[in-house]
Amino acid sequence: MAPAAPRRTSDGGSGQALDLITSGRARTRTALADALGLSRSTTGQRLEPLLASGLVQESDDLVASGGRPSRSLRLNARAGLVVSVDIGEERTRVAVTDLETAVLGERVLALRLDDGPEPLLERISEAARQVLREDDLTGAPVVGIGLGVPAPVDSAAGRVTGWSIMSGWDGFDVRDHLRRAWGVPVVVDNDVNVQTVAEHHRFWPDVSHLFYVKIGTGVGSGMVVDGAVNRGAQGGAGDIGHAHVGGYGDPQCRCGNLGCLESLVGGWALARDLRDAPRPDMHDARDVARQVKLGEVQAVTRLRAAGRILGEAVAFATSLLNPEVIVLGGLLSVSGDHLMAGVRETVYQRSHPLATRQLRIVPTGFRSRSGIVGASYLVRDHVLAPARVDGLLAAGDSPFELP
Ligand SMILES: [Zn+2]
Repeated sequence: MAPAAPRRTSDGGSGQALDLITSGRARTRTALADALGLSRSTTGQRLEPLLASGLVQESDDLVASGGRPSRSLRLNARAGLVVSVDIGEERTRVAVTDLETAVLGERVLALRLDDGPEPLLERISEAARQVLREDDLTGAPVVGIGLGVPAPVDSAAGRVTGWSIMSGWDGFDVRDHLRRAWGVPVVVDNDVNVQTVAEHHRFWPDVSHLFYVKIGTGVGSGMVVDGAVNRGAQGGAGDIGHAHVGGYGDPQCRCGNLGCLESLVGGWALARDLRDAPRPDMHDARDVARQVKLGEVQAVTRLRAAGRILGEAVAFATSLLNPEVIVLGGLLSVSGDHLMAGVRETVYQRSHPLATRQLRIVPTGFRSRSGIVGASYLVRDHVLAPARVDGLLAAGDSPFELP
């Protein structure tokens, strides 16, 4: 089964009812009946299997809904657990979340990405099992695994599909490997797409056009177009880090090309520029962020200049996509306002007034867990997709049975 959530149905079934409750658009029976366009009694029939399976809870917390207060409907966040993994260049987070993406337990690992996929996934599974066991999270079933990787991913096939810093992963079927180990649905996506999902779901659910740029040790972007993440033909959409930016001397990029955006503004590139005296120990975004935090003038100046260069690429994307919101994420975006100032300056200067009239450029609302939260949302979108829920309920199965 493809990991992407099937299209939302509008057939007034139990799956759609669950979707309305989960997204917070219907918090009472009256609101649900209105949203479904059904009578109270038919709405009650749609709710029945959701309440019986424990997926939805009706509680005595009263919700004021215009007229008199009503009892509230909500997704039972603890009906299932999600194993959520964010494979990063410097650290990998392995977490267990509830169905509302709250982190219930977590381990942070320093994994070498060039050890190859199988040993790495073994260690990730081991860490997830450790969290479940040691944090006493055995009361509910694991209903799915979500994984973000710093590589292009064909998310429909669950495979890594091209060159990345993860040597040995090109073509590897991540989904099949984890499904065999865990026996639950697995969703795999590029790490920046996962972060884009987290930003969109958590902070901008009503925005249909959003552009997300991650600037950490590497640079990447993700885009929401017409309300959905656009991954491109081969999962390579948004690979802005390896787009060429001329006029800055074409330094060598780690992908083998010259003058990529990442070779000018990525954390490793800034560390390279700052590594000469007086700081020989600079390697990645974390080292740069530390210097910026200390107010080290060279580092601050370099980060501001990087913001202006990044702004050129973002201005181009703005013209192309006409987003309502641009979110800057990644370790270097949370190092004060320096990067943001440079990006804003260039984008407003270079873009057509139509594209910037209502444009907001904002920092990420997350500190460090957007990858975990996004992967958890992707799993929930998949396992609770209306068509899937309807199909399983019709077959008499729990929505958390294997497809
Ligand atoms: Zn490159």
